[in-house]
Amino acid sequence: MILKNVSKIYNNNKIAIDNISLTLPNKGLIFILGKSGSGKSTLLNLIGGIDRVSNGSIIVDDYKIEELNDASLASYRNSYCGFVFQEYNLIESLNVYDNVKLAIDLKGLKEEFVSTYLNKVGLFNFEKKKIGECSGGEKQRIAIARALIKEPNIILCDEVTAALDSKNSYNLMALLKDLAKERLVIVVSHNENLANLFADGIIKLKDGKVIENNLIDAKNFNEHVKLKESKLNNRTKFKLASLNIKTFPIRTIFNIILLSLSFLLLIFFTFINMLDFNKIHLNTINKSNYNYVTINKKHNGYDINLNESDVYYLDNIFNNSIGVVNKELSLNNVNYNDDLLYYSILPRGYTFNSDVFNNFNVLGRLPNNDNEIAISKFLNEIITYNGLIDKEIDTMLNDVLIVDNKSYQVVGIIDTNFTDKFNYLKKNNDEELLIEYINYLNSDISSLIVFNKNNINNIIDITNNPILINENSNRLLNNIILIDETYDYKIINDEEGIIIPIYTYLEILSDLNFDLSIFNGSDYYETFINNISLFKDTFKNLYLNTLAKDYKYKVVGVYDNNSNNVLMTKELFDIIYQDISGIYDNVLVDKSNLNLNKIKDLDNSYLLEENILNNINNFKTNINNFRIPLVIITIILLIMAVGIFIININTTLTDKTNIIAILKMLGCSNKNIFGIIVINILPFILLTFLTSTILSFFLFNYFANLIYIIYSINLTINVLSYLFIVFILIIISIITIYITFKKINKLNLIEMFHFE
Ligand code: ADP
Ligand code: MG
Repeated sequence: MILKNVSKIYNNNKIAIDNISLTLPNKGLIFILGKSGSGKSTLLNLIGGIDRVSNGSIIVDDYKIEELNDASLASYRNSYCGFVFQEYNLIESLNVYDNVKLAIDLKGLKEEFVSTYLNKVGLFNFEKKKIGECSGGEKQRIAIARALIKEPNIILCDEVTAALDSKNSYNLMALLKDLAKERLVIVVSHNENLANLFADGIIKLKDGKVIENNLIDAKNFNEHVKLKESKLNNRTKFKLASLNIKTFPIRTIFNIILLSLSFLLLIFFTFINMLDFNKIHLNTINKSNYNYVTINKKHNGYDINLNESDVYYLDNIFNNSIGVVNKELSLNNVNYNDDLLYYSILPRGYTFNSDVFNNFNVLGRLPNNDNEIAISKFLNEIITYNGLIDKEIDTMLNDVLIVDNKSYQVVGIIDTNFTDKFNYLKKNNDEELLIEYINYLNSDISSLIVFNKNNINNIIDITNNPILINENSNRLLNNIILIDETYDYKIINDEEGIIIPIYTYLEILSDLNFDLSIFNGSDYYETFINNISLFKDTFKNLYLNTLAKDYKYKVVGVYDNNSNNVLMTKELFDIIYQDISGIYDNVLVDKSNLNLNKIKDLDNSYLLEENILNNINNFKTNINNFRIPLVIITIILLIMAVGIFIININTTLTDKTNIIAILKMLGCSNKNIFGIIVINILPFILLTFLTSTILSFFLFNYFANLIYIIYSINLTINVLSYLFIVFILIIISIITIYITFKKINKLNLIEMFHFE
């Protein structure tokens, strides 16, 4: 080993080593003597790669130590050096055996020699002893055994005899002398007597300079020793890491509770921030106790009917399973075999045979020509048992039913499972329940008469889509009627357009703040005709809007009636009919045909289960009011989690400074130290994450129940939000791993040891 002009100047400008040049032999026991503060320890640390020179060069074999990077310097300590310090630097929580074994673990050597080396330093049967049970001399020997077992090229001893009595000091020196036969042993001491007795060479220091050196002819020859990076198996890592669990500090428990809590809330709030409302919609439908759902159509907030192309579109989406419903068909009287019958509960409307009915038992079959219908078992019962017919008839199958003056043969009785419920209600005479069930019936398939699909045009001969008059007023005109001689009407200008009833016209005038005193007490229509010039201007910008589309139709005249109808020519009707020919009040779809994609794909003018949608929207609005605080809380929780994470690592690092310093001194790489820290922290983090995830699911469940009570919707966790959380966790982990690794790299061995 050759030192060339080596200097060490500490940060406080203290020159601890001042331009020393030395050649040290490959073998022998060398003493470095000097008073306290003369720079002995500093020199030893420079030689052992614990500290770095400020100037000059230290050459060991073919390595220049000052040129090695931190990782190689650790490998140098691991491969070349064995340290024995005055402070024994043993890991208190490992037993004697494990302390010694650590050194060879790091070198990747087999462990069978541990006892041999303990015996070599005179320690017999010490393997299982705890460090705390050993005396100072014994600890010193354990440290020597740990240095020896590595079979190092250089053994570095700093004031190793200071705490020993003279007998022990002599024994130790004898041992070192023996070891020095095969390697370089450097002993720092201020005991000249010992030096004179044992030393092969003596170097004296004063104020960082060599004042005496009897090694002038020291032999130094190059050997090549490969620098080996330290190894540490996971078992040892775990042993070192798990120490902390035994001495579980309150601070750690507090950190874990805090971390769990912030994770718990972070996950919960992320769930709420990322709700999938389509999924909630589907979930609510699936959890409901009905088998089919209704779709209706809205335009500008108004309910409008669906036309053939709507049905075609929906039929396509829902696998041809659409059944259509028209509520407007009112069967005020029903003829049964020529007897006129009256009944109180109206069929809700009609529908067409479709797959919707495949779920029900049908006595007979569904209609397949224009003269056939099917009715529900419930309707059958109402007609035959509910006082409508005196005769005792079990089933109307194959009977003739006259609806709207047309005869139909009943070819099917559909059991919609409603009769049992209804019978129960009748028997128990529960008024409230009965009303509830009748309401239910209003949206139930049980009240429908089923026609053949091709029969549509025979049943419907009038459009009754409402037409809205004036954008700002809600007055509706219902039916379109073609102009004929029976109406008394007046067209103001000769344009194509619509003729409205005088009463509606007066309402518009009132909306326009027109002075209506002229009409007082007189016939409205006559007054209008007599003063027609007064009203001409009001027609300039008078339009009707259809609900179905955004088209406007010019109002060109007024007729003498207070009805809800509009008059128009056949030509105009044919045009408008294209837009407003919807005849279906809503459509039915078997809920087994629903899935998330279909709900997403559905054009938003179609409302699937409008009541559920309304509930979801109410909930959405309320959540949106809290959106900003929700996001802020979530971000705060996220920052908290990262903070606690980092605090956790910091405390672990400080808790373990002593052990880390010893490991570094032994040549343990930063990578291995990082491994120990990770193994130390990871179980806590995983456990924390696991418990807080499980708890957050419970919390969400509780929240969902609450929301169900308030809004009647079934919340469900969005898978994406969970993936997002996992993603966030990975990011947090990467950040903290990075920070931890940086911190470990920054740890300075000298500062950790607090050399005096
Ligand atoms: P010795 O081991 O001979 O007692 P040291 O090598 O420990 O002496 O110290 C030499 C000088 O360097 C002393 O004056 C000491 O105060 C100073 N010194 C040692 N370590 C540091 C340090 N880390 N920072 C600043 N000064 C130091
Ligand atoms: Mg010292």
